Amino acid sequence: MAAAPLAYRVVASKGAEVLDVEVRGATVPLTLDAPALPYATVTSDGGTAFRYRFRLGDAARELDSRKWAFADGDGLYAAPSTWLMRPDTVAPGDRFTLEVLTEPGTSFVTGLHRASPDAGTYEGPVWALGDAPWSGFAPFTLLRDELTGAVVETAIAKGKLTLTPEQVRAWVRRSVALVGAYYGRFPVPRVAVMVLPCKGDGICFGTAMGNGGAAVLVWLGADADVDTVMKHDWVLPHELTHFALPNLSPRYSWLEEGAATYVEPVVRTRRGELSVDAFWRQMLEKLPLGLPEKGDRGLDRTPTWGRTYWGGALFLFVADVELRKKGSSLDAALKGIVAAGGTQEVRWELEQTLAAGDAATRTHVLTALHQKLGAAPGDVDLPALFKQLGVALVDGQVRYDERAPLAKLRRELVAPEPK
Ligand SMILES: [Zn+2]
Repeated sequence: MAAAPLAYRVVASKGAEVLDVEVRGATVPLTLDAPALPYATVTSDGGTAFRYRFRLGDAARELDSRKWAFADGDGLYAAPSTWLMRPDTVAPGDRFTLEVLTEPGTSFVTGLHRASPDAGTYEGPVWALGDAPWSGFAPFTLLRDELTGAVVETAIAKGKLTLTPEQVRAWVRRSVALVGAYYGRFPVPRVAVMVLPCKGDGICFGTAMGNGGAAVLVWLGADADVDTVMKHDWVLPHELTHFALPNLSPRYSWLEEGAATYVEPVVRTRRGELSVDAFWRQMLEKLPLGLPEKGDRGLDRTPTWGRTYWGGALFLFVADVELRKKGSSLDAALKGIVAAGGTQEVRWELEQTLAAGDAATRTHVLTALHQKLGAAPGDVDLPALFKQLGVALVDGQVRYDERAPLAKLRRELVAPEPK
């Protein structure tokens, strides 16, 4: 029989400078990661509840780290792993509930699942508490959407922005819809998108976090306009694409980053945001950055920027071509991984992930390609592949050869979606 869930009740005061936490149902000692420990003070460990105070404001200003906690504008941001003391031993079926009470004017937003659609209580597996998705305490503007199979909670932090909250919402909707279009539906049932202002006219940075839920932090330039976010932004679609693969060991970051790096321009081209020329120019110019350099030890053991992002994209591009030659596609393989439960909410082994994609396409393309490129540099002849596809850069222009053996495959790869 499953144990009663571990029940957290958090009262945030002075904004969220101070969190008073009550824990019920803990049967083993509770702990925090070492950097967060100095900010927690046990206030009562007698009776049925364990109570402690966490100085989130001090932690955010002193640690000032996206991994642990940071302050931005009027908000404090930290994964719950930083401020929720958790059991040092966890059984697979153990669950927790989390209730957070804030003062008027401060909202709590988290990637963790709500216990019920409108409840201010969240819940999840205890194992996820070690690396739970982003959470923020701030005077947010909150917007809620349901589209392409997901509840999307957008939280806009205070600060100077050219875009109105409705325009920010349209940007989030557009980005969720792009990812939903590739995968048939959005890969996870709920996502929290926290939008923080930054300087400039672009999108400064984004980061995604799963494990028992899904959250994105994205920094939007104060001067960014509608065209920038609706036509040119690749950052938010990239981050949202991350939810369509499981958490893998850091050794396999190339698959997580490669999938986001490859799927984002594919789907933006199919939906008409990028021209076909712009897509192939990006592949012709950027995929070579993913080729092994001298001394390379394979994708699993060469964690450089080029190999992680573009080496990973190259893996998926080659897989897409191989699968299409066999009458399937990378779309089918990646959808198959999601359909088997392999989203960012869970942790999987690489072998299980690739096998799920192979099962969906009734091939061994992903597993075989990893055997070739994972532990050794491998030998992808990219110029020969582009020649077979009939695409080249000539005098700075993208040129096509419709008599090339794989010209039809090349056209189908980014063909517009049927209306
Ligand atoms: Zn990424």
